[in-house]
Amino acid sequence: VAKRLEKFKTTIFTQMSMLAAQHGAINLGQGFPNFDGPEFVKEAAIQAIRDGKNQYARGCGVPDLNLAIADRFKKDTGLVVDPEKEVTVTTGCTEAIAATMLGLINPGEEVILFAPYYDSYIATLSMAGAKVKSITLHPPDFSVPIEELKSTMSKDTRAILINTPHNPTGKMFTPEELKAIAALCIENDVLVFSDEVYDKLAFDMDHVSIASLPGMFERTVTMNSLGKTFSLTGWKIGWAIAPSHLTWGVRQAHAFLTFASATPMQWAAAAALRAPDSYFVELKRDYRAKRDILVQGLKDVGFKVFPASGTYFVIVDHSPFGLENDVAFCEYLIKEVGVAAIPTSVFYFNPEDGKNLVRFTFCKDEETLRAAVERMKQKL
Ligand code: GLN
Repeated sequence: VAKRLEKFKTTIFTQMSMLAAQHGAINLGQGFPNFDGPEFVKEAAIQAIRDGKNQYARGCGVPDLNLAIADRFKKDTGLVVDPEKEVTVTTGCTEAIAATMLGLINPGEEVILFAPYYDSYIATLSMAGAKVKSITLHPPDFSVPIEELKSTMSKDTRAILINTPHNPTGKMFTPEELKAIAALCIENDVLVFSDEVYDKLAFDMDHVSIASLPGMFERTVTMNSLGKTFSLTGWKIGWAIAPSHLTWGVRQAHAFLTFASATPMQWAAAAALRAPDSYFVELKRDYRAKRDILVQGLKDVGFKVFPASGTYFVIVDHSPFGLENDVAFCEYLIKEVGVAAIPTSVFYFNPEDGKNLVRFTFCKDEETLRAAVERMKQKL
């Protein structure tokens, strides 16, 4: 393995899903729904395949999808973007993240991120040769330590990566936090890479795209995907929205990473994004109900549960159960209790910071959530 990747192990999601399967555990670890995406979106993909939309797509995206993404972004944020010059379709948001890092960061340039962070950030930053500075968000509310950010960010900082709603904590960045981050980025001429794949799963406050704050669009790459919003995580359709001078870098990396994403899925994605408002309202309502079931269940089991304002994840403190750390707890939970969760220490620069915290997902049908809680009540 190349040096830039040798420190990374098999992803924690793969590890825990494999272990869960081996032990017949209910998998509340890796975030993938155990229910299917909407019929009208699946039909649109089938139709596209039947219509012969099966050869390479245009590299930057099927034009109709670029347009649907721009329209959706305008509805969500009020920002008007050029679908041809400012929108790039990628193979999931994971590729948008990689293309952004590889297309806009030079080796040795400094990038700030908040821990706990989604694991692909640190691996793609390593591939790009970036110098990483990590700022830890602490429970109970995982709020942004603005003073620490002030002292960490300088004219040498090239970019900061944010993710709201935030995986793995379920935290949403408040408008005040976003404003403070934006002001520092403008002052120090820093780019923002904003992963917003959970934007439609915002329960306790409205989602705000940092690109929509004054002076921010010109320095922001906003990334999103189809997977979470339409319960189609296997389709791997994502996108990056950025002003044309940044889009150029993203597209250059994308061109040589994957060149283009799956054509029929892009046609279907365009149909998905044009879903009526009621689709998004119902999605949020359903997920809020699931969150409430799992959060209450985990409290009843005896965990200390932190607020899950957005995403389909909730973080708990497992220390009442006396296992030495998050990994030991998750192994015990899978093997002895029959429930899988994700240990969080791999999401920190300093793994010690996550040793008491584990993440559960509630992107499962209510019966599965209740069954998992029941197992924990009986066996933990
Ligand atoms: N985004 C998913 C999660 O956080 C995992 C995706 C993956 O397995 N790489 O659970």
